[in-house]
Amino acid sequence: MSRYRVLIVEDDAIQRDLYVAALGTDYDLLTAATGAEAFELAPSADMVLLDAGLPDMDGVAICRHLKKDKDLADIPVVIITARSGLNDHVAGLEAGAVDYVTKPVNFEILKARVKNYVSLKNQRDVLTKLATIDGLTGIPNRRSFDSALAREWRRLARADKPLSVVLIDVDHFKQFNDTYGHGEGDACLKAVAQALVGTLKRPSDMAARYGGEEFVLLLPEANIEGAKATAEAARAAVAALNIPHAQSSAAAHVTVSLGVAQIVPTDGPHPQLIVEAADRQLYIAKKGGRNRVQAAAHNNI
Ligand code: GH3
Ligand code: MG
Ligand code: MG
Ligand code: MG
Repeated sequence: MSRYRVLIVEDDAIQRDLYVAALGTDYDLLTAATGAEAFELAPSADMVLLDAGLPDMDGVAICRHLKKDKDLADIPVVIITARSGLNDHVAGLEAGAVDYVTKPVNFEILKARVKNYVSLKNQRDVLTKLATIDGLTGIPNRRSFDSALAREWRRLARADKPLSVVLIDVDHFKQFNDTYGHGEGDACLKAVAQALVGTLKRPSDMAARYGGEEFVLLLPEANIEGAKATAEAARAAVAALNIPHAQSSAAAHVTVSLGVAQIVPTDGPHPQLIVEAADRQLYIAKKGGRNRVQAAAHNNI
């Protein structure tokens, strides 16, 4: 198991070395001496130890900013300060800090605290993960896809880069269930999910179960040609599973139809519109005989 990462934000080098000495054997440590560095490193941290007095920014203000960012809000922050006034303490906790420690720091107690907060973060991550995984296939569920789509839409609108979505539907799956039974149907969906995951190339690509016998690929930065190639690879990978489907009009084995839509996102339209555009392509693929890819690039949506 990979080790937890603790971000230490402290401008005093001597104090920083003391934290490193106390925590370095149990955790991977990231260190920052300014608020600016803290913001840069916080996204990769499991918890943050934050000195209240920094040269460029007040620790309480840093904490407040971290808590406002929904991607970072779950990271436990412990504020460490030389001030022991009740008002400071309250201000720190109100800013969203999980705890407030006054200097001089007792490192044994600090170690125990860090252990608790890191495990709290881990428990929360496990629950979040469970809520985003489809129970049958083990790949991300629709909710997870929707939030990744919204995130990538914003990112790619800023970067002025394309986004492609591939909507995938198993052909004649009702017939498959009717012929081979629901249990075989479930096993088929699991195999299809794995075949789709196997066709992804980049770390930011995602395959999700969209619902029922429908799947979706999220392909950030893929242009229409790249997306078509991935969709074709996905089609071929499912066909290559060679799961018999005697009642299908498309082939003697299980096949999928795929609709591809590509756009360079902009600020206005709702991200879900690209899924609807992919669905229109999927409809054409179905009408055209199934077991095929249908694609379109959009300038606006
Ligand atoms: P088409 O080629 O037009 O897509 O036809 P189809 O039969 O695949 O489409 P239809 O929407 O009529 O049927 C989808 C079927 O998928 C019906 C439903 O029972 C089945 N299905 C949906 N979710 C699951 C599941 O989790 N397990 C199993 N075994 N079947 C499922
Ligand atoms: Mg300081
Ligand atoms: Mg369907
Ligand atoms: Mg279907």
